[in-house]
Amino acid sequence: MHWTTAKLIALDRAEGFLAQGWVEHSQAAFAEKAKVLRRELPPHIIAAYDQLKIAHKEPVVGVFQETCGGCHAPLSKPAMARLNDDKEVSHCEQCGRFIYLAGGHDLAAHASAPGSRNEITS
Ligand SMILES: [Zn+2]
Repeated sequence: MHWTTAKLIALDRAEGFLAQGWVEHSQAAFAEKAKVLRRELPPHIIAAYDQLKIAHKEPVVGVFQETCGGCHAPLSKPAMARLNDDKEVSHCEQCGRFIYLAGGHDLAAHASAPGSRNEITS
């Protein structure tokens, strides 16, 4: 997974937890984490992320069986090749969401596992 995508997922989770009020005792830690990630990510990525967040509940989604986890459109061969190549951040050609290869033991699957939501603060 591209480091930008990994950070976007972390940012999305941190801000998601904050928005849902799941982290009342570590609100400040999550807010700080989100702030740091926003500083580390390139400005144009943050701009695209914020734009996507207005339109979609999940701006960063996994790809399952060559299908976008957001809009469920099948990804083209070139899009899958770019995703596998992992040299840059990938977007769904249909909905524009940030996409990453889901499944296995990647960061996102791990971060969304039950009971692991506090790991994001570490
Ligand atoms: Zn899509």
